[in-house]
Amino acid sequence: MSVVVDRLAIIGVGLIGGSLARALREAGAVGSVVGIGRSNGNLEDAISLGICDEVTQDVIEGVKGAGMVFISVPVCSIPSVVATIAPALSPGCIVTDGGSVKSSIVLECEALMPEGCYFVGGHPIAGTEHSGAAASFATLYRGKRCILTPTENTNLEAVKTVERLWQITGAEVCLMEPGHHDRIFAEISHLPHAVAYALVHAVGTADVEGENVLSYTAGGFRDFTRIASSDPVMWRDISLMNRQALLASIDGFSASLAELRRRIDTGDQSGLTEFFTTAKQFRDGII
Ligand code: NAP
Repeated sequence: MSVVVDRLAIIGVGLIGGSLARALREAGAVGSVVGIGRSNGNLEDAISLGICDEVTQDVIEGVKGAGMVFISVPVCSIPSVVATIAPALSPGCIVTDGGSVKSSIVLECEALMPEGCYFVGGHPIAGTEHSGAAASFATLYRGKRCILTPTENTNLEAVKTVERLWQITGAEVCLMEPGHHDRIFAEISHLPHAVAYALVHAVGTADVEGENVLSYTAGGFRDFTRIASSDPVMWRDISLMNRQALLASIDGFSASLAELRRRIDTGDQSGLTEFFTTAKQFRDGII
């Protein structure tokens, strides 16, 4: 395969950034990859695992000469990282990200781009509950979706280049307006994480005659709560950055839970059967 980007800089070589680098290197789509991060241990992993050709903790030095910069740090840090690197970007550089929230990132980062450099917002719909370079793998994006969120200000050639790279990883790319993205992912991703964390929090602090309730967990509880093992800082940032949409989703969920509670409280047999049947049909429909 011919090289699409000569020099790719990855800021935050964790699960998302590391997996992108691995997939593009395996495909021969990048000339060289420089990994940029804060901690020695993670960057050493990125080198020893063959994810990057070189690593640095100096973000300004790291992005010099890069044709593309991919930012995969927790969402609240993305605009400040872009503000830091903006003066050091080479002409024509494309800056893109993998953050799970898009409206405010796209608005702020587009405005920070120097003349002749381009920002393209992105969000790969793939992941695990594990973090860091060592958790990354080349096939993470295969058969998954990646959403790009161009606006009327976004350079179309830059969008095409970013789209091409994600396609090389095996992802199916779709384009979406940033606010629409945030409302959809509040429902389908941010709400389930909030509910999983809240459930484990409630059960973990439940007092049933002094018993450690969590010691009785089995398959169902563990399946349902796997995502509550995700990185707390990442989910703090996503919750705060997508606050309005997530609050609306939590309100919808609270209403649904209150309705379920009401049907249980009133012994409403047919109402409960109808509630569970409707939910089962939705669930069966996505498998
Ligand atoms: P991760 O595995 O923890 O990797 C993030 C890396 O960023 C870390 O290895 C860390 O490396 C660096 N970092 C952390 N905090 C930073 C900060 N404040 N400033 C600069 N660098 C920092 O996380 P991830 O799962 O790859 O997630 C990265 C991004 O992808 C997030 O924006 C998240 O919303 C998005 N995303 C995640 C998933 C998922 O399922 N995990 C899915 C789609 C999108 P150093 O310690 O070396 O600095």
